[in-house]
Amino acid sequence: MTHSKAYAAQAADKPLAPLDIERRELRPDDVAIEIDYCGVCHSDIHTVENDWGGSLYPVVPGHEIIGRVQAVGVDVRKYQVGQVVGVGCMVDSCRSCSACETGLEQYCLKGMTGTYNGRDRHDKSVTLGGYSEKIVVSERFVVNIPEKLDAASAAPLLCAGITTYSPLMHYGVKAGDRVGVIGMGGLGHMGVKFAKALGAEVTIFTRSESKMEEARSQGADHVIISTDPAQMKAARETFDVLLDTIPVPHDMNPYLNCLKYDGKHIVVGLLTAVEPPLQAGMLVMKRRVLAGSLIGGMPETQEMLDFCAEHDITCDVEMLDIQNINEAYDRMKKGDVKYRFVIDMKTLKD
Ligand code: NDP
Ligand code: ZN
Repeated sequence: MTHSKAYAAQAADKPLAPLDIERRELRPDDVAIEIDYCGVCHSDIHTVENDWGGSLYPVVPGHEIIGRVQAVGVDVRKYQVGQVVGVGCMVDSCRSCSACETGLEQYCLKGMTGTYNGRDRHDKSVTLGGYSEKIVVSERFVVNIPEKLDAASAAPLLCAGITTYSPLMHYGVKAGDRVGVIGMGGLGHMGVKFAKALGAEVTIFTRSESKMEEARSQGADHVIISTDPAQMKAARETFDVLLDTIPVPHDMNPYLNCLKYDGKHIVVGLLTAVEPPLQAGMLVMKRRVLAGSLIGGMPETQEMLDFCAEHDITCDVEMLDIQNINEAYDRMKKGDVKYRFVIDMKTLKD
């Protein structure tokens, strides 16, 4: 076992605080990683605050991890000491079901193992995430970070990036399509970049007038203030795809109304009940599709990173000392971050 400093929440109503944790001895297929950067995802907050139920304390969040390989197990072939690598939202799956065999480990029929708040498949210990100095992960769940990408601003690609890339690819977004991205946060700003790179005409739906100019500088062609019913109504039946990143229950009916016939509303932000209820007629009368999407599989995560290197795509990040993590959570809850906090893990050694 190796000691690692970390930051953890001991209960839903407790702030994050330092905690010493242990990382396992290397199994034959394991890669030991010294973490340099870790992005702060809204899912970290949901888990710390037990919004989805089932949080296993202490919770060490963090699933946008970038670091350098420190050591490898005897069977590791893909990675070498010193290489810059990433770890996203999963660290294991059954590896043999139909989903795993097609590289969709996130939909593993036996359930994927989350990077934090999961159960290790071998020793049943609770998995602890990237707000830490070190992590040990099986090589199948490690990705290569292309040299061209800046490591700190690539960290959020491991979750925010793949979560928005995967559904846009799955639903075949192409040049000329009209894509709306709902919520201009960590996921949303990446959704804009990917949809633009695929040649779509992109609109941001935001509550925040203050984000209008920024939205344009992010490459969005149009901005709709979602709290203005007149603007929402004017957008009726114009979109092929909507990517919904809002983290809390919200009225989806006005958004569905913005889809053309055959349009797709893809939910990535919400895991709990839809409130107020959906009018099924919104779907039926226009053959619209309401869909959901969970991160992306390991091959697609690597593909997304290579796509980012090729298209010069990284995240807009605000660097964070780990000591300020609780203030960062408060700011994220108010939508006050452009657009992703990334923890500089050097500050954990201070
Ligand atoms: P952020 O906090 O960075 O961004 C969310 C954005 O949603 C905000 O910037 C804001 O945009 C908008 N928003 C926030 N609160 C409200 C509200 N009350 N009403 C309307 N809009 C709101 O979060 P992330 O991008 O990190 O994550 C978004 C969601 O996606 C989270 O629930 C997270 O758990 C989930 N998630 C899902 C994944 C998946 O695989 N499906 C993977 C990763 C995360 P604006 O100010 O522009 O309106
Ligand atoms: Zn995430």
